[in-house]
Amino acid sequence: MLNIVLFGPPGAGKGTQSERLQEKYGLVHISTGDVFRALDPDSDLAKLAKSYADKGNLVPDEITIKILESEVSKFPNAKGVIYDGFPRTTAQAEALDAFLAAKGTSVTSMLSLVVPEDELKSRLIARAEVSGRKDDADPAIIQNRIETYNNSTAPVAGFYQEQDKLSEIDGVGSIEDITNRLFSAIDSL
Ligand code: ADP
Repeated sequence: MLNIVLFGPPGAGKGTQSERLQEKYGLVHISTGDVFRALDPDSDLAKLAKSYADKGNLVPDEITIKILESEVSKFPNAKGVIYDGFPRTTAQAEALDAFLAAKGTSVTSMLSLVVPEDELKSRLIARAEVSGRKDDADPAIIQNRIETYNNSTAPVAGFYQEQDKLSEIDGVGSIEDITNRLFSAIDSL
């Protein structure tokens, strides 16, 4: 089973590139951000997730891990999964390792998109026009998301580096160029 963790800060292009990888390799794409946004807006869970996401804070691990596991379980015959936006903390990475180990599989590789902070900010501000997302519209919330990434999420790369599973991919350039870099990285796994 091909289990790819597509990693990078908010605005790095994980969602855009996931669609292309999903198509080329026939993988299931799971974005925890998308899963949270797709919950029934009247449910308690959706309201809780939104109360964190709208401010640019992480949804607590306990909730996020449960959501991720139930999403993965919807695809028992998947030949592989792209994890987009998960794991975002070391506790989530440990939970994913344990969850996959129980299924007799493991993370194949983490592909980490590297994009400078100024570029991230301008991409997110541009995205606000089309995404309608509250967390894209406000520069202070964008700043909080980037800081949360630097403080809580960036260390997850070290977790996979220790397992020799980390590849850094230059995330600046045309969408096509970046897709091709990801394809080469996956083809050489
Ligand atoms: P982006 O990568 O652009 O920040 P996402 O769509 O991946 O956006 O996530 C939006 C929000 O959903 C995050 O800011 C966070 O509040 C919540 N979220 C998504 N994935 C996770 C996760 N793995 N752990 C905690 N919170 C998460």
